[in-house]
Amino acid sequence: MHSIRSRTRGYSIRRSRRAGISGILLFFAVLLSGAAPEKRLSIYSTAANYSLPMVQREGRDYVGLLELLDPLGRVSAKSDPPRWRLHYNNIVGDFAVGKSHAKIQGRDADLSGKFLVENGRGLVPVACLNSLLPRFLGGPATLDEESGRLFIGNIATHFTASVAADDPSHLVFHFTSPVNPSVASEPGKLRMNFTREPLTAPASATLTFGSKTIPSATYSEGNGAAQITVSSSVPLMASFSNDGRTITLAPAVSQSANVATPTASPQNNSAVPSPAGGSLSSVPRRYFAIVDASHGGNDRGEALSATLAEKDVTVAFARRLRQELENRGISTLVLRDSDASLSLDERAFFANTTHAAVYVALHAASNGHGARVYTAMLPYSSEDDRGPFRSWSTAQHSSITLSQLAAASVAAELKKQQVEVRTLTAPLRPLNNVVAAAIAVEVAPSASDVSQLTSPDYQQLIASAVASGIANIRAQLGAVP
Ligand SMILES: [Zn+2]
Repeated sequence: MHSIRSRTRGYSIRRSRRAGISGILLFFAVLLSGAAPEKRLSIYSTAANYSLPMVQREGRDYVGLLELLDPLGRVSAKSDPPRWRLHYNNIVGDFAVGKSHAKIQGRDADLSGKFLVENGRGLVPVACLNSLLPRFLGGPATLDEESGRLFIGNIATHFTASVAADDPSHLVFHFTSPVNPSVASEPGKLRMNFTREPLTAPASATLTFGSKTIPSATYSEGNGAAQITVSSSVPLMASFSNDGRTITLAPAVSQSANVATPTASPQNNSAVPSPAGGSLSSVPRRYFAIVDASHGGNDRGEALSATLAEKDVTVAFARRLRQELENRGISTLVLRDSDASLSLDERAFFANTTHAAVYVALHAASNGHGARVYTAMLPYSSEDDRGPFRSWSTAQHSSITLSQLAAASVAAELKKQQVEVRTLTAPLRPLNNVVAAAIAVEVAPSASDVSQLTSPDYQQLIASAVASGIANIRAQLGAVP
């Protein structure tokens, strides 16, 4: 349970700050058939970085003035049509509907277009912000109307990109301030989308690296964001370090990295996926279920007793669960069948690339009784989900109902075996990163004796019930493409 709580905390923290590790992020892109994203204006300042929707009126882009100033200071507005009065700190602005001039502290200001009021909201043309905002803020504001980005004060994040001297398959970005882009990949490309960072253009929009693996990258801006698109000959993963100031892109599966030792049941020998062998993009076999023994390697999980580590208990449960699932005709891949270290993102990446119908993470705990079955708590996300790529953090979104169904089915089977069980929603990674139905089962002893967790009978009882719970809804799970 300790580990689950710590994951819960880490979840809400920017990934670049995750303690102890440089969060390795593997990315899995999901194409969405989305409508065109609404136009947005991103604002960068020392006080806050944020973005607002723009509306099209009178043939130009407009933005709400109150909303724009709100994060920057004390602000209020009074609508008394056709008059509209705004207070920002000690500055007063007087606007009138349909007029293209306003008075700021009694002095004339050109709005470059008509002032509008809708539902009490005062709207100004975005084009006037360059000249209008300094009248309120007392400092410079620089608008890039083309890309929908507004810089308040002298704020900018610069970056460099170069291949690592010792390994041309690694591309290293250095940023002058911490960054936390959303990242998505598609064949041949990895995109980093920066909406909260005042990223500024490099000297050339196209960067070339002379690397066979990563030949080039391009920088672009648009719709309130800056984007770096890296072309590559292999799938890439991004790792954050140096408190978010460094991003290293490397092949998602390195030949030398001991990242995973997935094993398949004997009957699947002909098509064992071999992430360690570097053929992730062409994993041939679709497994119905992925069983993930949580923790491993340096991550021991909870110390269940002086000698018993959670990481060892989860492997034992995983092996039994695979056997029980196979007994029910469900092809199963165990993600960690050794003491390998596997990051949460790697686990989700493997689950997603094998196109499994269900993902089951196993945990063990010393406190409490019986089993807890978790489904993902998805983060609130508004802007992360824009555009053609679904955000990594909400990959689970379209399967959450199926996940809850799986959790209920597993819980029902456990109850049948007189196992005390609770179903819970938790921001427990990597559940939210898995595209398929995804649950986590945390096993505690049925009595207070922790050694029970290593008892073959108890492991068998739990594994059998979980497998039955999955098998009972295989039709629903399998119906998802
Ligand atoms: Zn755990």
